[in-house]
Amino acid sequence: MPPRPFVLAEANWKSVKDTAYEVAILPWGATEPHNYHLPNSTDNYETTALAERAAEFAWKKGAKVVALPTVPFGVNTGQLDLRLAINMNPSTQLAVLTDVATSLAGQGVKKLLVLNGHGGNDFKQMIRELQATVDIFICTINWWTCVKGADYFDEPGDHAGEMETSLMMSLVPDLLRPLPEAGAGKARKFKVAGLRDGWAWAPRHWREVTDDTGTGNPAAATAAKGEKFLQAVTERIGGFLVELAAADLSDLYE
Ligand SMILES: [Zn+2]
Repeated sequence: MPPRPFVLAEANWKSVKDTAYEVAILPWGATEPHNYHLPNSTDNYETTALAERAAEFAWKKGAKVVALPTVPFGVNTGQLDLRLAINMNPSTQLAVLTDVATSLAGQGVKKLLVLNGHGGNDFKQMIRELQATVDIFICTINWWTCVKGADYFDEPGDHAGEMETSLMMSLVPDLLRPLPEAGAGKARKFKVAGLRDGWAWAPRHWREVTDDTGTGNPAAATAAKGEKFLQAVTERIGGFLVELAAADLSDLYE
């Protein structure tokens, strides 16, 4: 396959030097256990695929966008006692994001999308802080919120459930253990009512929440459901990229 100009890891200086890229996409995942049946880089596989597919969608419509290499480590402070879950603290993430954004800003790229694929990552406050100091428009998408999971899955699940398992069946089927080997992905709720009902919040200690590291039942997952969802999210983010690439930064408001 020839290098794709909208995937930075494949692109070369010959094409990059003459392309006026409007939008860079920074996919950001995590490295953590995903029940017994999914690989530890599940979030990275998913988010990389969506960044590249959305970039391709936009590129074919004439938008000059590029997917950067994926940052593979997320905030996993609640999983530090799970072997080989690798934590990157929010303060470190801000330092990484600052360096990437500053590089791009100095090279004339005017817009940056942080495409987040891990529930423990939250880029909003970092962007609020960074936006005041770097001359590049920064926005973020949690890709699992782009379309309604309930329209595609019986029970989407939160982590390594039907949605993530379906996506991985579609993307990298050879890396999955057979479904009967997966745990049920049963999640224990907080006893304190406010935390349980979601209007109060605290990070969860994963080992106490779940026995198999999953939160969500993967049993009804299929590759076909995964592909359908991937396509819908691709079109959603791809359409956003087309619009963002064309947007006039001095005239963003109605
Ligand atoms: Zn995940």
